Amino acid sequence: MIQSKIKQNIPLAPLTTFKIGGPAKYFVETETKGELAAAFDWARENKEPVFVLAGGSNVLINDKGVDGLVVKICNSGIKVMGQRLDCGAGAGLMAAARTAISANLTGLEWAIGIPGTVGGAVRGNAGAYGKSMSGAVETVTVFDAKKKNFFIFSNKDCRFDYKESVFKGDNGEQSRLIWQVIIKLENGNAAEIKELSDKYLKYRQQTQPKLPSAGCVFKNLLIANLRECDENLANEAIETGAGKDDKVGAGWLIDKLGLKGKAIGGAKISLEHANFIVNTGKATAEDVVALISFIKQQARDKFGVQLREEIEYLGF
Ligand SMILES: Cc1cc2nc3c(=O)[nH]c(=O)nc-3n(C[C@H](O)[C@H](O)[C@H](O)COP(=O)(O)OP(=O)(O)OC[C@H]3O[C@@H](n4cnc5c(N)ncnc54)[C@H](O)[C@@H]3O)c2cc1C
Repeated sequence: MIQSKIKQNIPLAPLTTFKIGGPAKYFVETETKGELAAAFDWARENKEPVFVLAGGSNVLINDKGVDGLVVKICNSGIKVMGQRLDCGAGAGLMAAARTAISANLTGLEWAIGIPGTVGGAVRGNAGAYGKSMSGAVETVTVFDAKKKNFFIFSNKDCRFDYKESVFKGDNGEQSRLIWQVIIKLENGNAAEIKELSDKYLKYRQQTQPKLPSAGCVFKNLLIANLRECDENLANEAIETGAGKDDKVGAGWLIDKLGLKGKAIGGAKISLEHANFIVNTGKATAEDVVALISFIKQQARDKFGVQLREEIEYLGF
């Protein structure tokens, strides 16, 4: 019975990497397909909206909490099947990457050091060092809450783009949930795989803050778009090597605004990486929202650039 698993007034801040936010009115952990479907039935019967939380590493939760049922995806199995990994959506992305490395499979080294789950990574097409989930996902088992059924999506059906997928179309209240993911990798050389993943992890440790955060706050900018706003800035991005491929980091732009170290309440723009807002101890969601608005306004006023959030808001 799902009813016995549904808890009330559960603090969500400890379930996020930001350590910010109020409680869930209702909260349930789902480990099986049956529990997931039953949780949605319960929400429908009780007229409560459903929100999904996985690793909590890309979300900002409202200080007032979330007024509805928060479903935490907890199917976390990972199976190696030849060159494929069969992952529950609740499996850690890092656990999947480590499993691939142990099986001498190449293609997920970039994911070492990225917190969160495989499902969350599929939804946001997580990536680093020029690679992303879109290059590794073969199929996704999806629960469609409106149709009350599970469907298999191909890589193409996921409509991956930079930090985007078809699953982001739902906005706020969720109706399509990623339940299981088949990741297709290649056989690799054990020493080369280890060397690459060690390199990525070391770079991350050297460049990212240790304080609680939700990773990069803003999406990187297309240099072509930046050029339309500020030709000189776009040229500078290319000349200094800050612009790689077709994009330049939002952190570079925030640094150019001179905002590293700027703080509102307990929220502060990281000194190590300007696209990270860190929680210095007692940050509230309101502090973070105010700091995000300030950065966006500065970017608009000084460079005519409209920054777009990569993090997701829950309960706003
Ligand atoms: C220190 C740090 C470093 C980071 N580095 C990177 C990086 O290099 N590259 C990168 O891309 N990201 C990075 N991130 C951001 C984050 O780790 C990823 O976006 C991660 O994939 C989010 O997964 P999650 O399970 O934590 O999702 P959550 O934060 O729990 O959820 C994010 C969104 O996805 C939805 N969601 C989650 N699971 C599902 C599901 N199964 N079905 C449907 N919707 C779902 C949620 O409702 C929410 O809207 C970093 C974060 C931190 C804190």
